[in-house]
Amino acid sequence: RMKAAAAPIREVLREIHAKHASNNAGKVADYIPELAKADPRWFGISIATTDGQVFEVGDCKQTFTIQSISKAFVYGLALEDHGLEHVMSKVGVEPTGEAFNAIVLDEESNRPFNPMVNAGAIATADLIKGKDYPERVNRLLAMFSKFCGREVYVDNTVFMSERVTGHRNRAIAHLMRNFGMVGEKMEESLELYFQQCSILVTGHDLAIMGATLANGGVNPLTGERAIQQKYVKYLLGVMLSCGMYDYAGEWAFRVGIPSKSGVGGGIVGVVPGQFGIGVFSPPLDAKGNSVRGVATCRDLADRFGLHCLETG
Ligand code: GLN
Repeated sequence: RMKAAAAPIREVLREIHAKHASNNAGKVADYIPELAKADPRWFGISIATTDGQVFEVGDCKQTFTIQSISKAFVYGLALEDHGLEHVMSKVGVEPTGEAFNAIVLDEESNRPFNPMVNAGAIATADLIKGKDYPERVNRLLAMFSKFCGREVYVDNTVFMSERVTGHRNRAIAHLMRNFGMVGEKMEESLELYFQQCSILVTGHDLAIMGATLANGGVNPLTGERAIQQKYVKYLLGVMLSCGMYDYAGEWAFRVGIPSKSGVGGGIVGVVPGQFGIGVFSPPLDAKGNSVRGVATCRDLADRFGLHCLETG
């Protein structure tokens, strides 16, 4: 459905990159000291198609921590580990309209609202199977490695920084423990959550991860399956409705690309059947989304008609 051939794609990416590179709005996340070290000028846009072509411009090889983008993928592993109904009994799929770190659970069910906010992501991490903590970490890393098509690892300094400053996340975990939404492994599951946030990726990786989802769960570069096809639509559904924090509603309305952002400055977007988008630029807006990333996705959606509810 994309209204352009290969050569124009690269040109359009260059044009959009040039247009937004000079936008100096936003602020690099600094609630974790390690994140504040990012260069606000970094800006990369990558597109990977389901037939394995990659188009990119700017800083697509620069590593950064995946942060909240991990939430969508770990949700996929939880679905594989337990099936939809059990996961639904622990984590809902309603947008909160609130900040990603809000301390709020559904009053009726005591569930966190959705897996894309911290509460839901911690409850989701709690669902990841494994005989002990190392096995659970390794299962997460193996899953991310399949999506990226290379072996990924954790930035230990960011991980340490996350865990020593993560009081709010601990409070959320304890609240959920009180309601039985997370189990006895709570401490371990929190660590797992801090680990998953601290995985190093590049803009290029994000595009490949997105392309893997766009391709029904099979990485188009390696041919390896990263997630069962039947769960991909649930990931994309919750990314579309909840993936951009408290900007998610306007995002679904205006951009219409299932996406997930992280405070490291990354955004992954998925155009089902066609391609994945990876954008990276550290300065964030007030809601915690990359300023240049949001602007880039809006432009891409407009230029190529990518809104998933587009009728022609
Ligand atoms: N590790 C971060 C936190 O829990 C993730 C935040 C994010 O990317 N929104 O605070």
